[in-house]
Amino acid sequence: MVITGTWQGRPLTISVKRNCLTVSTDDPSQADVFSYDLEGRMWTAFIDGIAYRRGLDGKMVARWRNPGEERNRRWLPQDEAVSIEARAHRHIQHLYTAIQQGEAELRTPLSPQGHQVFRQILAFDPAHSMADAARYYDVYKPVGILPPDQYMAVVLQMTEGCSFNTCNFCTFYKDRPFRIKSPDEFRQHAIAVRDFLGAGLSLRRTIFLGDANAMVVPMRTLLPLLDVVHEVYDVDKLGGMYAFLDGFSGEKKPAADYQRLYDKGIKTVYIGLESGHAPLLKFLKKPGTPREAIKAVRAIKAGGIAVGIIILLGAGGQQHADSHVRDTIKALNAMDLDMDDIIYFSEILVGEDTPYAREAYQAGLQPLSHSERLAQGAAIEAGLHFSSEGGVPKISRYDIREFVY
Ligand code: SF4
Repeated sequence: MVITGTWQGRPLTISVKRNCLTVSTDDPSQADVFSYDLEGRMWTAFIDGIAYRRGLDGKMVARWRNPGEERNRRWLPQDEAVSIEARAHRHIQHLYTAIQQGEAELRTPLSPQGHQVFRQILAFDPAHSMADAARYYDVYKPVGILPPDQYMAVVLQMTEGCSFNTCNFCTFYKDRPFRIKSPDEFRQHAIAVRDFLGAGLSLRRTIFLGDANAMVVPMRTLLPLLDVVHEVYDVDKLGGMYAFLDGFSGEKKPAADYQRLYDKGIKTVYIGLESGHAPLLKFLKKPGTPREAIKAVRAIKAGGIAVGIIILLGAGGQQHADSHVRDTIKALNAMDLDMDDIIYFSEILVGEDTPYAREAYQAGLQPLSHSERLAQGAAIEAGLHFSSEGGVPKISRYDIREFVY
């Protein structure tokens, strides 16, 4: 339901949906927009031309674009994030008071559901918000990364960490050993996540099985864990389950296994291929070979599951650039991708403390600039071909600095 009106001389729009409430106050030069989930958590805000997004852990990223520039982003220090949230809270408080006192003119009265969500938002004051963020850490080990199309998923940490943890550019799971939860422990976790999200569950679109490579879990262990997800969640209503499969030296599942996983609700498996150039994968200490990745993709797709393939632009610097482009094109073309699939181009971002930085320096690798990395992505894309029956996969950028859950 969308309600329009006027408040403090500015046009006002209140959108009450089955999964969120959005308030927008406009004027000719700018709009302030605030969105909340039904639990009352701030989700997004747009203030003074800057877009903010709050994660479930209370952290907040700000994004803006200056004319002629690429999008900028900055993770806010905690006090700044708290002050943005408090500002949004005050705004909603003033508006709701104005609605109740008839000072905001609404063309249609606010529905009972609308009143209920406003009350939820007002109960979610800064102290409640901090307690909620602390609860996130009771429920989760910090969620390391998700594919961009899964930022609105319900993450369930069926496994923790990465079973390989060897890649020299990756620091996501250095803080935890790999382990698979027992069905009982996983059930408790799945219930705790559901309780934590509360009414905010309605904003979530899919279920993502964490952490780094839940799909390496052997079938006899995996199937009972997927049954647990079905016990606790309405998987179909949430849009199915998604997961990473990273590295290929674990149990190799044939197409028949993927068909069973598809029947259990797995929709897409994301694979960090990084490159189709085998010597580069070796340098990156990525387990497995491009050949194994191609085989895995074919088995997954033959089982009816879509894939998301992640390519690391700039990996291996100038020295590997030509072979990286050439062999990545070859590998992607050998995967028979179609319109159900996604190819992500992700620029390598190397912290000084990563083994990659040290090893690239020792190997004398010359890094690619940002524009050279983008050109590398364009060169790979130009070499791809897809069948006319299958159609073209979605091709998109993947900026891990913008990850928020
Ligand atoms: S396999 Fe994936 S999650 Fe594991 S270390 Fe490598 S890049 Fe990181």
